[in-house]
Amino acid sequence: MSPVQNMLSSLAAGSTEVFDLTAPLSSRTPTLVLPEPFSNLIDFSIEEVSAYNESGPLWKHHNIHTGEHIGTHLDAPIHWVSGRGGKDVSQLDPARLVGPAVVLDFSAEAEADPNFLIDVAHLVAWQEEHGPFPANAWLLFRTGWDRYDHDPQAFLNLDDNGSNTPGFTAACARWLAEELDISGVGVETVGIDAGNAAAQDPPFPMHHFLLGADKYGITSLKNLDKLPPHGAMVVVAPLPIVGGTGAPTRVLAIAAGVGA
Ligand code: MN
Repeated sequence: MSPVQNMLSSLAAGSTEVFDLTAPLSSRTPTLVLPEPFSNLIDFSIEEVSAYNESGPLWKHHNIHTGEHIGTHLDAPIHWVSGRGGKDVSQLDPARLVGPAVVLDFSAEAEADPNFLIDVAHLVAWQEEHGPFPANAWLLFRTGWDRYDHDPQAFLNLDDNGSNTPGFTAACARWLAEELDISGVGVETVGIDAGNAAAQDPPFPMHHFLLGADKYGITSLKNLDKLPPHGAMVVVAPLPIVGGTGAPTRVLAIAAGVGA
């Protein structure tokens, strides 16, 4: 049997399962809020055109209205000024959208401190325990933040100092971008940077370094707690919007099932 047939057999047998890492997309999906004087994207909304009625007796269909960076979505290189000469979301190599999923759990740290920043030493220690990150990997960071995905207030965790959500140090962002042979990074929060990343140097270091190095970000993931630290495969499927800086994205993982 071919490797693909092997995988399909194990899916049929239940020893391998497909996990959906995508947050449902609706008008209630929490979205990033930029402060004045910056302009915000529109939230997702759905508009009925026909619903088995006069305007379409046999069918129902909708228009959708949305910003690119809404809900579970991918950041393409041209999203950031450091990647402005790079790829748009339609130009990403499909081979880099499928790869090993590495799941790193920082939910205890984020529970203790919502502004917790992951640093290089955390990732070096992880590799000492579990082995090196494989080539083409997607590093998926669990912070427990997905439990707030129905509650925009808790998800953004705003106070007078801005948004308080976990992220990465600038040194870690640079190391991820420059020292690792990965495809990208996924997080459970509204963006790949910490809530307070405007104050980091450079501002929004994950966007700056990753997107400037042809590596990609995905946000608002969920169900990472169902995946093993390594051994799963992830499929990242953004809409191929020509000229798009990002797109809502279905993210699936294939991993050992309960019957394995
Ligand atoms: Mn984005």
